Amino acid sequence: MTRLPDVPLKLFLDDRDAFPQLLVLWLLFLEPLRFRVKLLCRFSAHPEPESGSGFFVVDPSNPNFKDSRPMLNAKLAAKAHPTHRTVVRLTEEITIGDRQLLIIGGPCSVESFSQMEQVATRLKPIAVQALRGGVYKPRSSPYAFQGLGEAGLEILAAIRAESGLPVVTEVMAIAQIETVAAYADMLQIGSRNMHNFDLLKALGQVNKPVLLKRGLAATLEEFLLAAEYILSHGNPNVVLCERGIRSFDSHTRNVLDLGTVVALKQISHLPVLVDPSHAAGKRELVPDLARAAIACGADGLIIECHPAPEQSVSDARQALSLTDMVDLVTSLDPIATAVGRSLMRPESTSLERSVLTAC
Ligand code: PEP
Ligand code: MN
Repeated sequence: MTRLPDVPLKLFLDDRDAFPQLLVLWLLFLEPLRFRVKLLCRFSAHPEPESGSGFFVVDPSNPNFKDSRPMLNAKLAAKAHPTHRTVVRLTEEITIGDRQLLIIGGPCSVESFSQMEQVATRLKPIAVQALRGGVYKPRSSPYAFQGLGEAGLEILAAIRAESGLPVVTEVMAIAQIETVAAYADMLQIGSRNMHNFDLLKALGQVNKPVLLKRGLAATLEEFLLAAEYILSHGNPNVVLCERGIRSFDSHTRNVLDLGTVVALKQISHLPVLVDPSHAAGKRELVPDLARAAIACGADGLIIECHPAPEQSVSDARQALSLTDMVDLVTSLDPIATAVGRSLMRPESTSLERSVLTAC
């Protein structure tokens, strides 16, 4: 067997003068290299996972499904078996996550009774099953309109009673939960609060469905772990909402991540809605993104629309007119059919609806 010559090692070990050379070698080459690797990891789009994190994608068509581990720590949000699917009940008649799609429409902010009444009157005859409208608004600027608060909740309650449509509105703080839950059918957690773990834990104690929006720059795993907070604190009625994530391009407000919608449907049993309005930030992009979301398997949409979009007190640029909203919802019909889903036909009776749901 040939022996490797031990000269270089011997040279360094025997010769004390070699220590400065070693030091120079370290400082000049090895340390900068280590620094660059660290920088790369920090700014890379795929940072090194923290130890203990990381997940396995569960492919429902994979015969080895039972062997693949679900997302670590998100054991309640991940599918337990390939066909695992949760259907969340919004009202006696309206469900989310079964064959029928859920379409939610309304303004960014509740502004007045008349505004909400015009929205409800126009949307009720079409396949829109719930109204949206924020009364506690998470605005980037503290000087911007912050929402009508409890007065806005009273408007929502009056519109709900008049139209029979359930309402969805955002809750921003633990202190607001009780009041909002007394008026609304579904509590929205906004993107900026997806990481507000105390709020998520408190929503676990609530007996109403929660619409959890993906954080502005949250990974899929962080999103599911946020859902896990609510589930593990006792509320099984969580609906996920992809609303776009931050990127470098400001042409669109955010990037609608439909890849994550597909992945979420494979990994999690929870229903997934898409909000194309906050993703696009521009009304002319909303209809096509909405159709793409249904085509890729979303369980429904939440879309901002307004009787006078340009005059919206918040998110005016992305609000659809009511006519455009009606056109958009009508255009979803063939896409829904193509992917084995259906829109609620407003004239359908509850008996017809339960037959549809069972299909
Ligand atoms: C909203 O729905 O009006 C809203 C503020 O959404 P997001 O939290 O997704 O920005
Ligand atoms: Mn908005």
